[in-house]
Formats: sequence, structure tokens, C-alpha cells
Amino acid sequence: MTRKPDQVDFHCHLDLYPDLATAIAICESSRTATLAVTTTPKAFRRNIQLARSSEFVRVALGLHPHLAEDRQGELLLFEALLPETRYVGEIGLDAGPRYYRSMPTQEMVFRKILSMCATSGGKILSVHSVRTAGRVLDHIDECLPRDRGKVVLHWFSGSAAEASRAVQAGCYFSVNQAMLEKPRGREIVAQLPLDRILTETDGPFVDIDGGPVTPGGVLPTIKSLAALSELATADMANQLIRNWIKLVS
Ligand SMILES: [Zn+2]
Repeated sequence: MTRKPDQVDFHCHLDLYPDLATAIAICESSRTATLAVTTTPKAFRRNIQLARSSEFVRVALGLHPHLAEDRQGELLLFEALLPETRYVGEIGLDAGPRYYRSMPTQEMVFRKILSMCATSGGKILSVHSVRTAGRVLDHIDECLPRDRGKVVLHWFSGSAAEASRAVQAGCYFSVNQAMLEKPRGREIVAQLPLDRILTETDGPFVDIDGGPVTPGGVLPTIKSLAALSELATADMANQLIRNWIKLVS
């Protein structure tokens, strides 16, 4: 990335919008440093091809916990594609009512991916941890030594104790507007060190004003974060960009 971005959207499913090329163009024109997460290894190539000439969009290789059971056969493809990117996601665990039954497979897939990342080194991971924050941190402790990769916990919803454990472990947190609309989400975010926070949209899964959030639509989140820390919006925006630079450099 040659120019400094104006803002950061560190977890967005650009390929789940109606038109991927348009979604990428939106991130380019708004100068949004965007992490385009993917949900299956098979989806990765198309993202990489369309984002090839993009200055601000980076594509992550993912295997979403919701799809772990069906797509565990794509782990070999995952391994083959991993050298093509520095970014990994969406990966992680989900023990919500629809997915807890696949937990053994989810854990096997997550651990294999963490180990692959540990072997290659230098990766930045966007990690899902619904109702599994403690377990996710256990697996990271066991499989990904701290000097072998960086972890960004996306839409963190664990306890205050789990949040401080994650901070101790060096994790970053990507925060979206839906998190900040709930008192509990605000409480957790208020406890995080300012230099570990990034913004994300998790588009198109978060609704703003009755429709899916636009890629790079992080301004409401920046404003909420600024209010929470009693900072000016511009100061918060600068802090978030500094955090991103520190993470990726
Ligand atoms: Zn997501």
C-alpha cells in the first residue's frame, strides 16, 4: 500500500455483496484499508483476481467456523493457497445454538490453520469467537506462538476477564457498530487499550439504517469510539490508522 488510507475496515465480506468489483471500487474511492475476509478456500482466487490492482484492499484466506463441517475437505487447498497471502480469515469457533454440534470439527480445522500459520510465520489472522472466547485463546496459546503471527479478534463478545486475557496475549480487536449499540459491547470496548482497536463493518452482516452496511462504512463506529473515549472524532480516526499501521508493518 503506497498511500496512507483514510480509514480502516478490517473485516468485511466484500464477496458477499451483490457485486464484488463494485464493493472493491467503493473501498478504493473511500481510501479504506480493507481486509476482505473469505469463508471458504475456494472463494479466495476470485477475490485475489479482482483485488489485484487495488491499492487499499487486501484479501484474507478463510474457512469460516459455520462451514467447517461441510468444507473441512478444503484444508488441503487452504494449505496450498496460504503462501499467496499474509492475511487469514475468517477463521475461528462458534458455539451458538446452530453450530455447537460441529465443535469437534471446528476445533480440528481451527487448530490445523493455526499450526499452518505458525509454520509459515508473519500472518495476520481475523478470528471469530462467538461463545468460545476462552477456547479460542486456549487454541491460539497452544498452536500459534506469539512471535509467529498476529491475531485480531473480530466482533469480540467474551467476558471482561477474557478480554484482558486477550490483551495480555497481544491480540487486537476489530470493532463494529452493532457491538457498540449494546451496553455490554460498549463496556468491553471501553476496557480495551486504545492502541489495540481497529474498526470493521462485518458487512454485509451488519445493518445500518435498515440496510446492509456499505463496505468501508466505519464512520458511525469511529464516532461511537470517540465518544466512548471522550476524544475528538478526528483524533480517534488518526489513532485507528496508527493502530492499523502498527499491526501491518
Ligand atoms: Zn464475518
